[in-house]
Formats: sequence, C-alpha cells, structure tokens
Amino acid sequence: MSTQSQIYDIIVIGAGPGGSTAAYLLAKNNFKVLLVDKELFPRYKLCGGLLSMKTMQLTKEIYNVSSEDLIKNKIIDYSTPFYEISYRNKRTLLRNEGEFDLYLVDRTIYDNYLLIKAKTIGVEVIEGIKIDKIDINHCKIEFQNGDTIQSKFLVGADGVNSIVRREFIRKKIIKSKDWQFNLGTGLECFVNRKDLETDQFKTLLLTLGFVNYGYNWLFPNKEKIILGVGALNRKNKGNFLRALKKFISSLNINPEKISQVMGHPVPYGNFSIKPVYKNKVILIGDAAGIVDPLWGEGIYYAQKTAEFAALTIFKHFKDNSVPFTQYEDLLRKHIYSEFKSTLKKRWLLYNRLNVSLKYYPVQAFFLIYRKIVKFLRHYSRRFRELSKKQHLLIGLNSTDTF
Ligand SMILES: Cc1cc2nc3c(=O)[nH]c(=O)nc-3n(C[C@H](O)[C@H](O)[C@H](O)COP(=O)(O)OP(=O)(O)OC[C@H]3O[C@@H](n4cnc5c(N)ncnc54)[C@H](O)[C@@H]3O)c2cc1C
Repeated sequence: MSTQSQIYDIIVIGAGPGGSTAAYLLAKNNFKVLLVDKELFPRYKLCGGLLSMKTMQLTKEIYNVSSEDLIKNKIIDYSTPFYEISYRNKRTLLRNEGEFDLYLVDRTIYDNYLLIKAKTIGVEVIEGIKIDKIDINHCKIEFQNGDTIQSKFLVGADGVNSIVRREFIRKKIIKSKDWQFNLGTGLECFVNRKDLETDQFKTLLLTLGFVNYGYNWLFPNKEKIILGVGALNRKNKGNFLRALKKFISSLNINPEKISQVMGHPVPYGNFSIKPVYKNKVILIGDAAGIVDPLWGEGIYYAQKTAEFAALTIFKHFKDNSVPFTQYEDLLRKHIYSEFKSTLKKRWLLYNRLNVSLKYYPVQAFFLIYRKIVKFLRHYSRRFRELSKKQHLLIGLNSTDTF
C-alpha cells in the first residue's frame, strides 16, 4: 500500500460532465488537479443525452466551442428545433415551432470529449480504478487496492451513487431519508432506425400520463431513437417498466425491436439535501442531487455546479476566503431559487393538471400559456437588444469570473 500526500491541490472524483468541467477549470487556473474515475474511458452512461440551449451556452462559455463545432466534430449526434409535449400520445399539449434548437449527444462520446479537454489542459487522470473510501477530514481517497492519495480539496463529482455523499450520510452530515425522499428512477431503451417501418420520429417527444410525477420521452438520434421513462420512486412503486411499455405501444413500435431496458437512479428534487460540502470537500452535480426537479435535466447543472465549485476553490486559494459560503451563495442565488419555483410547477402539473389533462380546456390552457411565453420572449428579446445589455452566460457578476 502506498500513500501520496498533498501532491495535488485538488482531487476530483468522477469524470462525468461535472467532474471533467471542474477539473478543466481548476487546471486552467494553474492548480495541480487529479481526476479519478472507476471506469476506463470512453465509457457508457445511461442518459437521454439531451443538451438544452443553456447547456450549449455554458459549454461555449467554458470551452469556447459552439454547437456548430460540436456538430462538425461529431460530438453532437442530432439536433432538432421541434418538440412536442402530449398527454398519453393522444393529445398534443404544447408544440414548439422551431424557436430554438435542441441537441442530442451520445454520453460515451460527449463525456470522453470533456475528459480529453481536461487532459489536454494538464489534468492528471487515473481511470479504471474505483475509490473505496474517503476521509473527509484529511481530503484523502483510498483506492480498491489500498493505495491512498491526499490533497488540499476534494470535489465529489461521482454521480447519483456517490461514495463521497455516502460518507456524508455515514457521518450524519446528510440524512439518508432526506436523500431517499426525492429520489427518482430513469429507464431507457432504444430502437434502431433501420428497424422502424417508416422514416418517422424526427421530433423530440415528451409524454405525460403513463407515470405519476414524471414523464416518458422519445429522443431522436441519427441512427436510433431513445425511449425512456423517468419519475419519482415514491409515487410509482413497480410502475416504471409498465409505463415504458405503454408508451412504446402508444407509438406503435414493435416491442420485439427494442433493445434491453436499462435503469439508473435520478435525483428528482434532491437538491434540498444539505449541506453539500464539509470541511474542504464539496459535492457537485448528481452527487449533490442538483438536477432539475421537473424535467430531470442534469448535464447543465453538473457543469454549472462544477463552475461554481471551481470558482469557490479558486477564491479560497486567492484570498483565503471561507470555503463554501460562496458555493452555497451561488447555488442559492442561481439554482435553488429556480428549482424552488420549478417544484411548485411540478406540484401543479402532476397534482392538479394531470388529473384533468384528459379534457380539452387544459389544452386551451397550454395554448394560452404558449402565447404568453412567446409574447414575453419576444419583448424581452427586444428589450435586451435595445438596452444592449450583455447576457451573462454563466450568471455571475463579472468580477466573479475567472
Ligand atoms: C435514464 C436517464 C436519462 C437522462 N437523460 C438526461 C438528458 O437527456 N439530459 C440531461 O441533461 N440529463 C439527463 N439525465 C441526468 C444526467 O445523466 C446526470 O444528471 C448527469 O450525468 C450528471 O453528471 P455528473 O457529472 O454529476 O455525474 P455522472 O455523469 O454520473 O458521472 C459520475 C462519474 O463518477 C464515476 N464514479 C462513480 N463512483 C465512483 C467511485 N467510487 N470511484 C471513482 N469514480 C466513480 C462514474 O464512473 C462516472 O463516470 C438522465 C439520467 C438518467 C438516469
């Protein structure tokens, strides 16, 4: 067993979008960073791979790559300006008319791309070895083979089953029941386009009604279509697979053509677990439960919390500021406030509207809602143009940026 002490300023655990982004930003600011992942990359990650507009903007801000670059380099597999939200695939509630694009990636390719970015900027990477133990008090990690490494900071970016968060729970820093309460599950499978009867399914589809407190999705890719379901565990005992099958049958897809169904936990409101830091250990992304509590979007929040964590650590080294009060402030201001209002929308949608979605007046409600959103979007755009106010992509004060 060997021990290395304090060679690294920061050890980042997990090389998903959160971990690679945090490592990249820290190394860019001349910190000595070690990034560790139990898998050998490129590795598989169950995910719909949908990147929203705001993820693209953030990725451009951090890595200086545009969606066009990512399409050209085959990192983005498919993009579409069309989506539709329906009730049980019977009634359309909302249809996007091409105001903005949605991008789809294969996570094997996207995560590997971000990891290469981190390596290129000087991050040291250990892949294919699992971390078994964490010492929160000494920022020390222990690998399966007993080797240990210590650093000045630890970033827990190791996903929804995070070993770092489990250590927080073991030490009673976080309550296990708080974590379990809002946990969700995502199931996914796919169908190859060549196995479909027609050249259909070019539109991204979200469907309510087959599952409680959640939804089904169809994400078009170039060679295949991804079919999934995601929802809150406590509202769907044993219902996930059934809901996925009903969805597939409503699309008239031959069930014999679908791939094996895979499942994975999803934080679905777990942002409410606190604290997400202790001493000099900080949780980001799924490990901190920071995923949109309505749509389950997590890639953006993994990268955004990575940016906040990097900024916090950077500030601490620069002016010896109290670590993590800034992280908490940034989370509260830019993420938790948004999520709290999303939770209210979720309650309204799944408790009140879902009951009456079968009836036409609800469709009228969505139509009016869409018109209002379009109207507001138009005028806020006009206002921005007029005032020439620069949109702050990363939502920080300019003095806060690196
Ligand atoms: C079915 C499904 C569909 C989804 N679809 C979307 C979508 O379309 N769009 C979207 O934005 N979000 C989606 N999400 C959510 C999204 O996948 C996550 O929010 C996102 O991956 C979080 O990124 P992360 O970097 O925090 O963690 P992860 O991407 O989970 O990365 C964690 C990394 O840590 C590593 N690791 C774990 N434990 C250890 C250990 N002990 N030692 C070393 N390494 C370790 C893992 O190997 C992994 O590489 C989906 C989730 C599911 C389950």
